[in-house]
Amino acid sequence: MLTLIKGAEIYAPHFMGQNDVLISGETIHRIAGTIAACPEYEVRVIDGSGKYLFPGFIDSHVHILGGGGEGGYRTRTPEVMLTDITTGGVTTVVGCLGTDGTTRTMAALLAKARGLEEEGITTYIYTGSYQIPVHTLTDSVMNDLILIDKVIGTGEIAVSDHRSSQPAKEAFTRIVADTRVGGILSGKAGIVNIHMGDGKRMLSFLRSVLEETEIPPGNMVPTHINRSMALMQDGIDYALRLGGLIDLTTSSDPNFLDEDEVKASTGLKLALDAGVPQHQITFSSDGQGSLPVFDQDGRFLGLGVGKVSSLYREFRDAVRVDGVALEQALLPVTSNPASILKLKSKGQIAPDMDADLILADQETLEIDTVIAKGRVMVAGGQPIVRGTFESLI
Ligand code: ZN
Repeated sequence: MLTLIKGAEIYAPHFMGQNDVLISGETIHRIAGTIAACPEYEVRVIDGSGKYLFPGFIDSHVHILGGGGEGGYRTRTPEVMLTDITTGGVTTVVGCLGTDGTTRTMAALLAKARGLEEEGITTYIYTGSYQIPVHTLTDSVMNDLILIDKVIGTGEIAVSDHRSSQPAKEAFTRIVADTRVGGILSGKAGIVNIHMGDGKRMLSFLRSVLEETEIPPGNMVPTHINRSMALMQDGIDYALRLGGLIDLTTSSDPNFLDEDEVKASTGLKLALDAGVPQHQITFSSDGQGSLPVFDQDGRFLGLGVGKVSSLYREFRDAVRVDGVALEQALLPVTSNPASILKLKSKGQIAPDMDADLILADQETLEIDTVIAKGRVMVAGGQPIVRGTFESLI
């Protein structure tokens, strides 16, 4: 099947101007000023005039299996559905377990990731759990990375949080070391995705890895950096001084931001203005994760659910509200996560890359069309491909 997108203005994420894009099967075949639809072949033509064409977004931290449970069993959050992902312009997700590594298992996470892949998007997972010792599929993080294709790293490991297993620094460092070596031996990223809590130790675990070992900063992605201004500032310092990566979480309700919480779009602007190199910053949604609210004494007050669609919202707000340039605002959700996670065919619009694409209105930046591996998943802002059980509702 050939698909021809005509006349869209391309941000690849770098600006390429108005071009036609020919998709063959699951892959981008050709990009040129004008490409004629060849009458000998059946070609589906999509009108891209008045639209931007972006790479499909990569969401590197999603609780695809559901998460939560901090308020008891009934607060376990539901599994993600295909259209929760695609309608938010996301075509690649990395799934992880969360606080609950007991009733949520690695085997179920792998099965869910495979299910979503069958439904049309691209999926990966992190092995491990909030807790150390970590939960794995085989007997170790390193073996999981080397033996299981979908495993590209470890996470989310919780530090500086009252919900963490309060690991010793040595135990944490060992996880990072094993993940790095597992990545090297399997040709994968070997990334540790690290849940940052609001504890006073902030990024001290990661600093000690960089200061006391030979491990480089590219193997650790601390997430939820924008959960407080103090952590945001520590993250900026960590990025500037040590070359560390920082990941901002988009799933907070802008209407109910914690007192000190920094909206991801604003955090991006802050980090860029502070001089953090643009390739060191990513966004992830924390989709389907619980958003528990605790009082000052740590008592549970209530719970919300993170949404994958918040990733696109924060990208859009970065451009429209916080004044970040479009090219720059795309980096944390496209080419940055692709290169950090070593997803070689993702995150860019170029020949031979996967045909993961978003068409968005040039005026409003609203999503019009989403294509995942050459298949139109969303058209006219509406899902046209639904998950297996969504079609029954
Ligand atoms: Zn987390």
